[in-house]
Amino acid sequence: LETDDPLVFRAKVSPNRPAVIEVATGRHLSYGELNELASRCAGWLAKVLPGGEDHPRIAYLGRNSIAEIIACLGCQRLGAVFVPLNWRLSATELQQILADCRPHMLIVDREFSEIAGETGPLLPPQLIVEGEAGFLARLQGARPRAGGRIAADTPCIILYTSGTTGTPKGVIITRRNAFFSAINFALVGEVTSQSVTLCDLPLFHTIGIIAIARTTLLMGGRLVISDRFQPGRTLSVLGDTALGITHYFAIPQMASALRASPHWNPAALKALKAIFIGGAPLSPALIESFLEDGVALVNGYGMSEAGTVLHMPLDKDLISAHPGSVGFAAPLTEIRLMASDGTDAADGDVGEIWLRGPAVTPGYWNKPKETASAFVDGWYRTGDLGRRDETGLLYIPDRLKDMYISGGENVFPAEVEAVIATHPAVRDVAVIGIPDPRWGESGVAFVVPASPEVLAEDILSHCAARLATYKRPLRVIFLEAIPRTASGKAQKHILRQSHTDTDP
Ligand code: ATP
Ligand code: MG
Repeated sequence: LETDDPLVFRAKVSPNRPAVIEVATGRHLSYGELNELASRCAGWLAKVLPGGEDHPRIAYLGRNSIAEIIACLGCQRLGAVFVPLNWRLSATELQQILADCRPHMLIVDREFSEIAGETGPLLPPQLIVEGEAGFLARLQGARPRAGGRIAADTPCIILYTSGTTGTPKGVIITRRNAFFSAINFALVGEVTSQSVTLCDLPLFHTIGIIAIARTTLLMGGRLVISDRFQPGRTLSVLGDTALGITHYFAIPQMASALRASPHWNPAALKALKAIFIGGAPLSPALIESFLEDGVALVNGYGMSEAGTVLHMPLDKDLISAHPGSVGFAAPLTEIRLMASDGTDAADGDVGEIWLRGPAVTPGYWNKPKETASAFVDGWYRTGDLGRRDETGLLYIPDRLKDMYISGGENVFPAEVEAVIATHPAVRDVAVIGIPDPRWGESGVAFVVPASPEVLAEDILSHCAARLATYKRPLRVIFLEAIPRTASGKAQKHILRQSHTDTDP
């Protein structure tokens, strides 16, 4: 299969339709203009990149912008690979990623020039383009390169995972993957040419670059790009009737920050269909609090390797009846729940989620060993646990790696964390299982207190009133902060390591 790039089609059928608008500057482009800039970018890249490389890699370090969208689409037009970098990483972490993907070009916005410089002597041959304006200026005189059909298995993006369980892995996203992933999200998220989506989640993760940006542009909707999340600012964009945002996307922490903001006014969110949540466990309590205000938080489960996999329908009654659920499988991805004995888990039982389909990555960049162990007979093993209830709705109890067994019973730390988080004196929490001579494993709760007076006993008795004995942590350790990824996920391997180091 060879594919053209869908933007070419959009520019043909609706050149004057608004495609993208940038909140910070008010800058906007129609589909015709965006298409023209994408082909200029492809023409410029073809001229300046060293020849002889089949799929040159262009890394991008900068906050969300129209420039980043153009760079991504320009790479796609040329058959080059776009590598959006996580600008929240330290110089050392960035260096690891640059050494892994060895980009032929780095486009870096001024805000990050210094940190890019600190990554040390980069691997030649490499071109560095500084500043968003510098990049856009180069496109002015460039000769446009027309779209053409390119093999669907050509990589178009390398997406680094969040690094929740270890060093981030580069996930190869082919044109086929990106297309089916975007269609998958359009189907479950009800994205159409009438949709107006707001993206203030970073474009370096799958939700931003695929579910939001690519889906919107594929369907002919309007993409509103914002370079940062700030509750007050986000709420004013959501309430702007001239924009009429229909789809907003957030991780759980962002949603709770919006609702806690003094500017929270659900009545102003007239056009909004739902707030789409993904990336980390979403607490039923948060869903219920939004429902009380008439706003649907729609939970979706996915990952860099496959995009959207499971999704709750946009149905407030269903959400209210099953607030912990991640809904059903997206139509273009096949799922299986595998019990530990290698058979399919029965309804109600927990099993590892395995995936197959055209949205699923062919593997990791530069990591043949990890790729080999992640795939079994064409199925991708997610490392996440799932459970299907009798109505067919799915739930994510936790990651397989994080589950522990205490007194012969499976404990899902996510469930224990959700209970501890309801204690008013708890600001943040993460639970891990550690070896225990008596129980096999037992739980340790790392707690960031909201007030200095709170005692470990308060947390333990809070758990005792709400959790079965085997689920209760045996120890509470107070911390100043839980190590978290840019997408807000607790890095439990760091907690485990520090616990083993200090308490062997
Ligand atoms: P790494 O693979 O580097 O350890 P990561 O898995 O966190 O990091 P991502 O691909 O960004 O990197 O995140 C996907 C993971 O996020 C999923 O495998 C799952 O564990 C978790 N996740 C995503 N959505 C949800 C959700 N709705 N509920 C619970 N967990 C979720
Ligand atoms: Mg992962």
